[in-house]
Amino acid sequence: MEKFSQIVRDELVQSSLAVGKHCIKAELAAIIHILGSLHLAGQQRLSLSISTGTAGVARRTVQLLKASYELESEVQVEQNEKLGKQHRYKLIIPDQEGLARMIVDLGMMTRDHALEGGINPDLVKENCCRTAFLRGTFLAGGSITDPHKKNYHLEMVTQSEDFANGLVYLMNLLGLKAKISCRKEHYLVYLKEIEALIRFLSLIGAHVAVLKFQEIRVVNGLREEVNRRLNWETANLEKTLSAAMEQVQEIEKLQSESAGLTILPPKLRETALLRLEYPEASLKELAEYHQPSLSKSAVNHRLRLIRQYGKKFTNEAGI
Ligand SMILES: [Zn+2]
Repeated sequence: MEKFSQIVRDELVQSSLAVGKHCIKAELAAIIHILGSLHLAGQQRLSLSISTGTAGVARRTVQLLKASYELESEVQVEQNEKLGKQHRYKLIIPDQEGLARMIVDLGMMTRDHALEGGINPDLVKENCCRTAFLRGTFLAGGSITDPHKKNYHLEMVTQSEDFANGLVYLMNLLGLKAKISCRKEHYLVYLKEIEALIRFLSLIGAHVAVLKFQEIRVVNGLREEVNRRLNWETANLEKTLSAAMEQVQEIEKLQSESAGLTILPPKLRETALLRLEYPEASLKELAEYHQPSLSKSAVNHRLRLIRQYGKKFTNEAGI
C-alpha cells in the first residue's frame, strides 16, 4: 500500500499551489488537523508543530503557511529508531504574529487550547475548497492500494471521530460515498470501488495516478469481455453436444428394434447413419457430411422427423 501512496503523494506535493487563498487555507487546515499539535508555553505563547514522515509534505506545508498567513517555520529532521531509522520531519511554527489568527481562522482551537476535531464549515463552502481539503487530508493521512492489486482501497486515518464524520459528509457532497471504520484509537474513512478511487484522485489533482487506474480498468474490462465470450461459447458447445447425444440415443433405440432403421425413408436414414457416425459433429458439420451437402435447417428438419418416427414407433409398440 505504501509504495503507490508515496507515488500519489509525490505527484501532489509537486503540483502548484491552488490559486485562491481560500483553497490554500482549506488544504493547510486539513494537514494541521491530522498532523498538527498545539503547544502553550505560558503567557499565552502558542506554538504549533506538524510532524510527517514525508519530506515533500513538510515542504508543501511550509509553502502553504507562507502563502496563506505569511508564517515562518523551521524544519527539524529526526531519525525514528523504532521505525527502522526512518526520517521524521518536524515543522515548528513558533509564536509570531498571525499564528493565533490562523488557528482561530481555521477553526482549530477549543477554549482550552486543544486542537478542535471537527471541520470548520466556513473553510469548505465551495467545491474548490472541498477538493483542496481532501488533498490536504490525503497528503497527511491517506493511503491507497496499488492499482494492480484487486482489492481497491483508499483510506484516510484520523484520531478524531468528529473529523472522520465531517470528512464523510464532505466527500458525500462531492459524490463520493465514503465509509468509516474504527481501528484501535483511529478512525478510517475509506473508499472501495475503483470508480470512486478514480474520482477521488482526479478531484485532488493526482492525474498520473488516475491514468494508472484507468489503464487497469480498461485491461480488466477486456479480460471480462473475453471471459464472457468464452463462457457463452462453452455453453453453446455443451448445448450442441447434449442435443447430439439425445439424437444418437433416439436413433440407437430405433436401430435396436426388429425393423431397425429400415422403417425410415432413405433420406432420413442417411441422416440417422451420419449422426451415428459423427456423434460430436455440430449441426453445421453434419449438414456438410451429406452428399450433396444440406443446409443446417434441412438437417434440423430431418432430425425432427426422425424423432417423430421414434415416438410413433414407441407409441405403436405400446412402450
Ligand atoms: Zn476554494
